[in-house]
Amino acid sequence: MSGSQVHGISCFSLVAPNDETYDATLDFYTKLGFTKVANFGVSDRSDDNVCTDSVREDWLYSAGAGEASNITLKLRLVPSEITLAPSESTATEWRGQKAAVVLYSADLSAITKQLDAAEIAYQALPNEKNPSEVYVRDPLNSLVGFSKRLNPFAHSSIKPPVGSDVVSGIATPATHEAINRAAATASAKAAGIKKKIAVMTSGGDSPGMNAVVRAVVRYAIHRGCDAFAIYEGYEGLVQGGDMIRQMQWGDVRGWLAEGGTLIGTARCMAFRERAGRLRAAKNLIAAGIDSLIVCGGDGSLTGADLFRSEWPSLVQELEDTQAITKETADLYRHLTIVGLVGSIDNDMSSTDVTIGAFSSLHRICESVDSISSTAISHSRAFVVEVMGRHCGWLAVLAALATGADFVFIPEKPAEVGKWQDEMCNALQTFRRLGKRKSIIIVAEGAIDSELKPISAEDIKNLLVDRLHLDTRVTTLGHVQRGGVPCAYDRMLATLQGVDAVDAALASTPETPSPMIAINGNKINRKPLMEAVKLTHQVAEAIEAKKFAHAMELRDPEFADYLDAWVGTTLVEDETHFVPKDQRMRVAIIHVGAPAGGMNAATRAAVRYCLNRGHTPLAIDNGFSGFLRHDSIHELSWLDVDEWCIRGGSEIGTNRDTPDLDMGLTAFKFQQYQIDALLIVGGFEAFTALSQLEQARANYPAFRIPMAIIPATISNNVPGTEFSLGCDTSLNAVMTYCDAIKQSASASRRRVFVCEVQGGRSGYVTTVGGLITGASSIYTPEDGISLDMLRRDIDHLKQSFALEAGRNRAGKLILRNETASSVYTTEVIANIIREEAHQRFSARTAVPGHVQQGGNPSPMDRARAARLAMRAIRFFESARNNGLGADSSSAVVIGIRGAGVSFSPVEEVENNEAEIELRRPKNAWWRSMHELVNVLAGKTFSD
Ligand code: ADP
Repeated sequence: MSGSQVHGISCFSLVAPNDETYDATLDFYTKLGFTKVANFGVSDRSDDNVCTDSVREDWLYSAGAGEASNITLKLRLVPSEITLAPSESTATEWRGQKAAVVLYSADLSAITKQLDAAEIAYQALPNEKNPSEVYVRDPLNSLVGFSKRLNPFAHSSIKPPVGSDVVSGIATPATHEAINRAAATASAKAAGIKKKIAVMTSGGDSPGMNAVVRAVVRYAIHRGCDAFAIYEGYEGLVQGGDMIRQMQWGDVRGWLAEGGTLIGTARCMAFRERAGRLRAAKNLIAAGIDSLIVCGGDGSLTGADLFRSEWPSLVQELEDTQAITKETADLYRHLTIVGLVGSIDNDMSSTDVTIGAFSSLHRICESVDSISSTAISHSRAFVVEVMGRHCGWLAVLAALATGADFVFIPEKPAEVGKWQDEMCNALQTFRRLGKRKSIIIVAEGAIDSELKPISAEDIKNLLVDRLHLDTRVTTLGHVQRGGVPCAYDRMLATLQGVDAVDAALASTPETPSPMIAINGNKINRKPLMEAVKLTHQVAEAIEAKKFAHAMELRDPEFADYLDAWVGTTLVEDETHFVPKDQRMRVAIIHVGAPAGGMNAATRAAVRYCLNRGHTPLAIDNGFSGFLRHDSIHELSWLDVDEWCIRGGSEIGTNRDTPDLDMGLTAFKFQQYQIDALLIVGGFEAFTALSQLEQARANYPAFRIPMAIIPATISNNVPGTEFSLGCDTSLNAVMTYCDAIKQSASASRRRVFVCEVQGGRSGYVTTVGGLITGASSIYTPEDGISLDMLRRDIDHLKQSFALEAGRNRAGKLILRNETASSVYTTEVIANIIREEAHQRFSARTAVPGHVQQGGNPSPMDRARAARLAMRAIRFFESARNNGLGADSSSAVVIGIRGAGVSFSPVEEVENNEAEIELRRPKNAWWRSMHELVNVLAGKTFSD
């Protein structure tokens, strides 16, 4: 029984370890005026309403005196070794103790009379004559209080929430009928199995762990399970007691935006020993938990798998030593374990990304961006040490996203005796080209090819001694672990948390423990132990100096990112140039609205062109600038140096397409001898490419390789799962929504209707809704109807009534700008205000162009560089294969799964686009809409 107060409590449950205490407890509460409303015996065990671990169960109900006393009590008999805590001495004051349930009762003298008659000891406060509070211990030694005040910790009486029996979609019903109904629905949803699922966070913390806990708790409740949190990782499991707590829907409200882990994590030596794991098993059984979802790094998941493999023998030992009865042991022969990878290092094999890695990358990039400006001011060199003992993912991605000059990682060690020259030569070359700053990123576990660690200090000393550079070392340390989780981590944590619950429910004793992974943008289940084994193999491969193998074991994009950094940073000698007759004049143009990553893509394209002997040309101000002002010019290595961190469009962008004047466009292409064209932009860019491709029949100037790198915050370009800029925009929307949600929560009873951009694509609205915990979203794909509004407003009314002004109770609705021409943002807010009858208020919020997002996110920067380099390579091979006039030489360069795709624009237009609606067919993210509703608690009342 957890500490709580009358306000909002409508149901609590007690567990008795044997028949004797069970009967005594039943008797005790009956004497206090509770009546039996349901009873389940052993033979009822298949009944959906019964918790699967109890052999007897009674539900008692007290209409009590006063409106808040509609209390249901679930008493369960779970035979076990649990020894009751010794009775608390009556000398100490029971009031205020943590583990007390305090119930409202208007007539305390009736209660004291009943207690006196039954000769039950109690404490009355402030005195027995005229008590305002009465405390009593039941036969289970649970502390129960009765208070005259509706909120015993408040000074004035507060009206309790009335009406609905559904709190934010969970079963905290106010009546026993409602409990029956809720339990039946929930159990039916869980295919007849009512599980108790616990979630814990363990090992090093990482941003997004709270989003995992939120998703697991809410989705488990949605699936009809009881949800528990184990506090302080394995330490909590070994200690048990108060460290294992049942979680309700509202307990995780607002957790999406919180960094770290609110249920705590610890490193636990005791769990490494069998004796510790035996205690952990005992505690889990005592709490009735049969499924454990562990979110942590490879250490935590190794421990989890060991725990599961040992589980049958642990249960047997508990039975043999009579710590539990045979009946209990029989109920717990199987433990379900599901692993989720929470790690900032992105060091787990079998999954492309771990929860927390991108947030950490955000912290690193923010820091390096800041360091860059001061480095330029003083013409300094900075050696920045980032985390990653065995994994260089953070270092490589940070180097690529910030345009760092050199990077040291464990998987591709610097060559002994050579790296010093290599680095100094590179830095000297950059300085000669005019660069005023030098940034070197070094992973914590950086080594040379003889496995000797390379420290930031070593590098600094070299730069000072050899190049006489004013050099500073910055160790980012724990800054990298903290802070608000980024958009991607919130999405990943939520989707994986939900899948972990599904995996737990699908688990059988025969299936190996799964680890929830993401591969190629799809949530997958992988055998946990194999993933851990592969992860350990990376360290072993490095130790054995099998560096190529270590790289292979990393996620498929890792090598690509490293390749992109090399190709777009190092000034290579002419040996890397293509033969003279294959060198091209590559034009780069931006089309459409600005989006994060446009400049980073241009920078990478320019750099890689130069490294291959091509001539990069920037067309300024789109097709209209080109046609009217001949605005085209060459870009140099140094021109674009700072572009990876800049938002907007350095070369200018607009929505004009070449059909402004196709003939003139062709003439200009000829005039400037353009051999290849890279278009960076959104749907207009896609249209522009399609127009050029179709015009090839008439204009030979367009029979050249052409490609578009989709870049738009709307993510509405067909032929790719992600466009550049959509991650930046999601982060901008998220930051904005976090702020307005905080404001709404501060005023307790406020809804913000936030208008989100995205054209006719609901991507930002949908994913934005998922990552900000919106209570409703309105997308152009689904439109808005009166029924929807009515349902959503009803839900708001229920939620506000039941949350009763608690903390974090502000609400958010995201509406895409084109979702409906009638139900505008203002109209929706007005309808809500009208319907709320002053019980809550509604405001509008329009972030507008803030959604373009300032500096691009690290993910957009890294993707931009990767795609741009691949674009230039595509041009080279298309030209060498003589594909100029072929439709396959005009492509959309997309991200599909973990790979980069090159899809002919003609095919994409015919098969994948809804041209009039300017969006792709069958967008992959559509199914998230339902999840937004589920996690807002909206399907329970269906
Ligand atoms: P991470 O999960 O971030 O890799 P650790 O390696 O520190 O972090 O592991 C976290 C906890 O998991 C440890 O404190 C320990 O309790 C448990 N653990 C790790 N490895 C094992 C193991 N081989 N056997 C049992 N428990 C383990």
